[in-house]
Amino acid sequence: GADDYVTYPFESAELMQKVTNAMDKSRLIREHTLIDKLTNVYNRGYFDLFIRKEFRRHSRSKRALSLVMTDIDFFKKVNDTYGHQAGDAVLRTVAGLLKDQLRDTDIVARYGGEEFALVLPETSESAAVKLTENLRKKIESVVCPVEEKNLELSVTMSFGVSSSKGVKSSADLISNADSALYQAKKDGRNRVCQYKSTKKGDAVKKAGS
Ligand code: GH3
Ligand code: MG
Ligand code: MG
Repeated sequence: GADDYVTYPFESAELMQKVTNAMDKSRLIREHTLIDKLTNVYNRGYFDLFIRKEFRRHSRSKRALSLVMTDIDFFKKVNDTYGHQAGDAVLRTVAGLLKDQLRDTDIVARYGGEEFALVLPETSESAAVKLTENLRKKIESVVCPVEEKNLELSVTMSFGVSSSKGVKSSADLISNADSALYQAKKDGRNRVCQYKSTKKGDAVKKAGS
């Protein structure tokens, strides 16, 4: 896997330059494969790796792990009314906001289209719901500038929260958060729902209910 070499005797400046070049190259490759180009948050590929890794860590440590799936409400309308460029600008603003509000150990990833996943390690379900409710309020209060069109748009988002308690795999954690998100949409959007498993079968409940 050698990328470059120096022959003996060599100047230390030459070696330093080669090492710096190799590090720049490796950083570029990493960023291109892990980061979503449009929104500058992690991409789906990185999310898939991260959630599995964090689930394994949770299984060993038994520390809580929470997942939030979130999706912009009526986003198609933004594209249809103001154009795809405006939609892109909204996606960038929303992604930046989500990233800014999270802690260093959390990650935000673009799960697809206008849907994002937030992985919150060492976070209980109740703490995750609280944090998500704050995010929801922040998003609804912020305007997204669309410079190309001299516009300012507002959007809301729906959120589904699930946590690792009693959950057997990262795939289940994802599908639980997805069900909760589906419920949030069904209940009228711009809200947070948490997944709640019951003895009679699986169900979702509205946060706080
Ligand atoms: P809901 O509240 O049920 O989520 O409604 P919605 O309109 O947000 O959902 P729908 O799935 O009908 O539409 C999602 C839209 O997101 C359609 C698609 O064109 C748009 N979209 C997906 N990716 C991008 C993108 O990268 N840029 C832009 N501008 N639009 C995108
Ligand atoms: Mg949507
Ligand atoms: Mg969607």
